[in-house]
Amino acid sequence: MCTGNKSLNGVVFNVLPNFLFHRVPYLAVARTFEKIEEDSGSALYRDCSVLSVCLSCCSCSEDLLCCVYLCLNQLGPAYMGLELGVGETVLMKAVAQATGRQLDKIKAEAAEKGDLGLVAESSRNNQRMMFQPANLIAGGVFNKLKDIGNMSGNSAMNKKIDIIKGLFVACRFSEARYIVRSLAGKLRIGLAEQSVLSALSQAVCLSPPGQDFPPAVIDAGKGMSAEKQKAWIEEKSLLLKQTYCEMPNYDVIIPVILKEGIDELPKHCKLTPGVPLRPMLAHPTKGVGEVMKRFDEAAFTCEYKYDGERAQIHILENGEVRIFSRNQEDNTTKYPDIISRIHTVKNESVISCVLDTEAVAWDREKKQIQPFQVLITRKRKDVAAADIKVQVCVYAFDLLYLNGESLVKQPLSCRRALLKKSFQEKEGEFVFARAIDSDNTDAIAEFLEQSVRDSCEGLMVKTLEKDATYEIAKRSHNWLKLKKDYLDGVGDTMDLCVIGAYLGKGKRAGTYGGFLLACYDEDNEEFQSVCKIGTGFKDEDLEQHYKFLKEHILPKPRPYYRVDQSTEPDLWLDAVQVWEVKCADLSLSPIYKAGMGLCDPEKGISLRFPRFLRIRDDKKPEEATSGGQVPPLGPSECPRSRPLDLLNVQGSAPWTF
Ligand code: AMP
Repeated sequence: MCTGNKSLNGVVFNVLPNFLFHRVPYLAVARTFEKIEEDSGSALYRDCSVLSVCLSCCSCSEDLLCCVYLCLNQLGPAYMGLELGVGETVLMKAVAQATGRQLDKIKAEAAEKGDLGLVAESSRNNQRMMFQPANLIAGGVFNKLKDIGNMSGNSAMNKKIDIIKGLFVACRFSEARYIVRSLAGKLRIGLAEQSVLSALSQAVCLSPPGQDFPPAVIDAGKGMSAEKQKAWIEEKSLLLKQTYCEMPNYDVIIPVILKEGIDELPKHCKLTPGVPLRPMLAHPTKGVGEVMKRFDEAAFTCEYKYDGERAQIHILENGEVRIFSRNQEDNTTKYPDIISRIHTVKNESVISCVLDTEAVAWDREKKQIQPFQVLITRKRKDVAAADIKVQVCVYAFDLLYLNGESLVKQPLSCRRALLKKSFQEKEGEFVFARAIDSDNTDAIAEFLEQSVRDSCEGLMVKTLEKDATYEIAKRSHNWLKLKKDYLDGVGDTMDLCVIGAYLGKGKRAGTYGGFLLACYDEDNEEFQSVCKIGTGFKDEDLEQHYKFLKEHILPKPRPYYRVDQSTEPDLWLDAVQVWEVKCADLSLSPIYKAGMGLCDPEKGISLRFPRFLRIRDDKKPEEATSGGQVPPLGPSECPRSRPLDLLNVQGSAPWTF
């Protein structure tokens, strides 16, 4: 795409004409990361232009692909689970050997700075070299990372160190910082995948395939007002995001974008059995009244919300069955029991399909659902059918693909009818999600209570006809969740990320006594503080949290943490774990940052008397409850401070640290 002399995020380099095939220097990527890290949280960062300029400088799909993967710190499609697997010790050894510094010194400095990347960057400056190795190119760095990822076994360690050393000696400026962070699996510049997708569409829109860049930037915008151009890019970006949800594989998408353009993506990159698609998610609601208000005249169905693990079941044309988790991890070897039964419950007419289901622990003797806590005792990988102790029942609620046709654009009524036509129920093994199609408030309230009696979390309420497609790329309100917590009036549960810890006193001395929790704001791509938590922990929980979280201490908060000074924790933690937390109520607070500006220009929303329930291993930090979701009633009905007597209902103890 680009030719001529170019300055990219501060790096001036010679760009040869396309036919001479120039490659993007890794320094351009590193400079881009620096800029993103610096600007994190600012408007400049949010509009993706810094990254988009970097991506638009790639002259071939191979380069673009490498740059995108470097930004995402992935070696390939996430669902393939390729991991770098370089431990801190190996990395430190490599830094020491490459820079001629003593390992102890590197270790001490890394502990002090909390970032081996910065240590590598500053160590590099001390190096004297006989001759300067060739400058690194982005594609070259990516391929080396891939080589490292593909090495396994003990003998691989020295080979890995050699490759890393080779990279280090060629590093300039901040390159070492980002190579080390990539190798450690924590780029942590606050760049979410949605921003990468936006930047990619912006780069491609402003520099269409077959045209040279940068003149095309100006050409493409010609005749369009800034506003119109923005809307045009957003439209393309949505198309790209939608495609990515159905085919989350840049190896497939990027060559098509460059050859055919974004508009042609749906024709070439389709939902395919064997490739997990992003699951549709639900929006929280406060009660039956709100459901009625939101859906107004639209027909809807209420399904049981089962408390298990999402299982996307794919039947491939060759008969192979694959099962994917909510995060597109391959769970196939976890559920040999589901695999063996799936062919017995499908009708002959089904050749290939993608089912959306919940796998729930099932007590065969009592013929009843068991809690989520029982399900998580199952082994995660390579389960032998004969060793299975915890049985599961699959509750099917959607059909997304059938015999070569994607159904995501069909309304739920149609998808559900096809699901029921294509599969047969088998008690305790494969059952359709229990549902009622009613708009009678009393009937729904009764069904909600029944769902709780039947060991479910509450209801999922879904539109059937209007606005009833399977929406994955944009946040929609087509699915609402109505959890049982509303029934007893003591508040909702939220999934929050731990970003700080307070040192324990008294009984909790030597461990952490409390924690700072944050919700995740997708629009601003930041973690916003929402409450301190000190209750609900059993002694084992505290011990487990201490062991796990002490490995994730940071010397200073990430630039994308929004926290008031008055709630500053004793230790900052990397946002790596999500907890499910129950609270008595919500209140507006000047010291918490969640959803700041939504209800009050200067106050955020905080949780009153939160209680720890469990770790949500199945959720990534970026999937924590968002700022906008914290007040489930929306801005107009934001909470003021509510009466303290709710605390008595909840029975939560006040702070214990
Ligand atoms: P939450 O994890 O609270 O955001 O709730 C969404 C999750 O509920 C989904 O990811 C599914 O794993 C689960 N679930 C249980 N029953 C259903 C259902 N009937 N329809 C959709 N999702 C369901």
